[in-house]
Amino acid sequence: MASVTLRFYAELNAFLPPKQRQRSFEAKLARAATAKHTIEACGVPHTEVALILVDGEPATFKRLLHEGERIAVFPSFQRIALAPLFSLNAPPAGKPRFIADCHLGGLARLLRMAGFDCTFRNDYRDREIAELAANEERIVLTRDKQLLMIKSIRHGAFVHALKAEAQFAEIVRRFALIGRCAPFSRCLICNVPLAEVEKTAIVEELPPAVRTSQAHFRRCPRCRRIYWPGSHWQRMRKLLERALAWRTQQEAFS
Ligand SMILES: [Zn+2]
Repeated sequence: MASVTLRFYAELNAFLPPKQRQRSFEAKLARAATAKHTIEACGVPHTEVALILVDGEPATFKRLLHEGERIAVFPSFQRIALAPLFSLNAPPAGKPRFIADCHLGGLARLLRMAGFDCTFRNDYRDREIAELAANEERIVLTRDKQLLMIKSIRHGAFVHALKAEAQFAEIVRRFALIGRCAPFSRCLICNVPLAEVEKTAIVEELPPAVRTSQAHFRRCPRCRRIYWPGSHWQRMRKLLERALAWRTQQEAFS
């Protein structure tokens, strides 16, 4: 009996048994099986599917499948921008999101400081980076050429500079990030957006000097860290300004 390789992305994995989630797996083909039939036989309703690629080519639900073909199935969820799938090396649409490899923690922190979504862990393996980049339409940032040669990585950037500040400036230029920064809008630790918080709600948690000197606060909804424009803040802002030559937009937190 003929078989194909299937890979379901993002939310579609919820319909699969655990063994088949987030990975490619073999499926036996019924006779004259269409893409729709094969996908639904795996438990995924056709209404949840926005894009099917058969050996990298867009396909309809009616496409007949053949021995050895690789079927990639994507949901309609907006996290995955479909347009870039049809162009070579164009960055994903919308505000770019990144994933930094395990040597680029400093760069990840600076990108978060500038308001960009940058996933980072110091124990990522190459395979995990490739999977996250594919699943979440992230641009892979690395100094490892071999990593960027992984076929499944569609968007990536080799980072030439060695120091975090210079790396940041390099990425800002390459992806035209000036004008799209939102400094101090994201938690440096958790990589999630900060929320405005009233001073009265958190005053008990503030150091005495901060209570009297600061008026505006943001809080990370995950780790509960509170951010305010203190000396640490000013130092970070200077760093950003140097990297971006950013002198006009001082209103980021005012
Ligand atoms: Zn946090």
